[in-house]
Amino acid sequence: MLDSIRVRLTLWYTGVLTLVLVVLALITYFIFWQSTLQRTDVNLSELSEAFLTTLDAEVKDQSGPDSLKLAGQVAITEHRFRDHVFAIFDAARNIVVSSQDVPPATLVSGLSAGGPLSSHSFQRFLDASSRSERLFGKVKGGEDGYRGFARHFSSSRKTYTLVILQSLHPQQEMLEEVTSTFAWVIPIAIVLASVGGYFLARKSLAPVVAMSSQAGRIGAANLHERLAVQNGRDELGHLAQSFNSLLDRLSQSFERQQRFMADASHELRTPVAILRGESEVALSQQARSLEEYRESLVVLHHESERLTHIVEDLFTLTRADAGQYPLQPGDFYLDELVAECVHSARTLALAKKISLNFGEASEFPIHADESLLRRMILNLLDNAIKYTSEGGRVTVTCRSMADEYVLSIADTGVGIPADLQPRIFERFFRVDKARSRAESDGGGAGLGLSISRWIAEAHHGRLELTRSDSAGSTFTAYLPAPSSPSASTS
Ligand code: ADP
Repeated sequence: MLDSIRVRLTLWYTGVLTLVLVVLALITYFIFWQSTLQRTDVNLSELSEAFLTTLDAEVKDQSGPDSLKLAGQVAITEHRFRDHVFAIFDAARNIVVSSQDVPPATLVSGLSAGGPLSSHSFQRFLDASSRSERLFGKVKGGEDGYRGFARHFSSSRKTYTLVILQSLHPQQEMLEEVTSTFAWVIPIAIVLASVGGYFLARKSLAPVVAMSSQAGRIGAANLHERLAVQNGRDELGHLAQSFNSLLDRLSQSFERQQRFMADASHELRTPVAILRGESEVALSQQARSLEEYRESLVVLHHESERLTHIVEDLFTLTRADAGQYPLQPGDFYLDELVAECVHSARTLALAKKISLNFGEASEFPIHADESLLRRMILNLLDNAIKYTSEGGRVTVTCRSMADEYVLSIADTGVGIPADLQPRIFERFFRVDKARSRAESDGGGAGLGLSISRWIAEAHHGRLELTRSDSAGSTFTAYLPAPSSPSASTS
């Protein structure tokens, strides 16, 4: 159950809400309690003022030693409320008059029960009051204790202490009411909020659930299907769009793979068919001359070589696509490698009476995979010779420009039609399929330029068709020179 985001969200939401409500309730309780206490203190202070005014007036009307006591009794009767206790003490802390009937001896010992004035707590409050002019404090007793206020006053040149106690019972009752209200309001609020939170989470996550089930239905067979984007501007809309663009890329790559597979099997089918046909013919004839067998074997050998070549190219490309072709870089001179390749291709060129020229270049040290670069140069030379008619010319130049080496192979061949030039580096692409395959050297499968371009790019360089018209074509490879930071190959 906890695996569901909906449930987890609801639990988190409920937990946070409970915490907030409890903290709010505590703060409210504290503020309420504080303000009640403040009101009580103000009330006590005002009451003491009124009491002393009455006492003053009454003392003037009285005469004799008990004048203060008598005046106090009148003032108490006038100001006494149900929850208040009044008491006046002289300097020796003997009770002069009080609203409660407490014998003075009891007060001194402080051990007798019967009202707050006789409690230990009151004694302590009285002790503390002697040290300050006015004092507020808590006195234990009664149902919920008392708020005490003590202040000094003078009468007939003597100092007395007036103490007023106000019962905290009504305030306590109010606070209990507040607490009990919180006790049922908070759980109800939590239950309502968690139910609401659950439905809210369910509603917000519904598009995600819909998307996941829709995504679950998309497979190789219906890779063209896309998720519905309800609102392209919100987060879920962005998620759906990202997912759709991922599907776009996947489907393109899937299509490329399928095309590659189809083209590859198509290319392999021809040599395999020739091999089978030729061997069947050779085996079906009873008596064949040695010469005939030899001719058949030449064809078989030729086609199996072509097959090997295609399979090797395919293997190179698939490994390159997967990023698994390990480059083995080393230090050598590019000009020497080019000269070596030109030398190897010379026999081919001679056979077609093509003049193959490589203008001597200065030393071009390079850090690269020598065998891969050799393969690229031979591919380009092979093409230049293959697509140039007898008596033509192939010119190889190598120069250094800024931070790269520029290797050009120009021929005076048939050229490539302008509309097909952009597709020349595509896999299995051949300008004229019939022409290429009919080539006596076993015409390629249209993979040579793809591999050559990959080799240049794997060395952080590039391979371009820089010119091609009826006068011939020029392929140019740009390879980083060692001083440039991108020259180092991994
Ligand atoms: P292939 O093995 O068939 O030569 P490539 O990938 O090397 O395959 O070349 C792709 C196609 O580009 C060739 O079939 C050919 O039509 C064209 N092409 C390549 N190089 C040249 C060139 N120097 N002159 C004319 N056409 C060329």
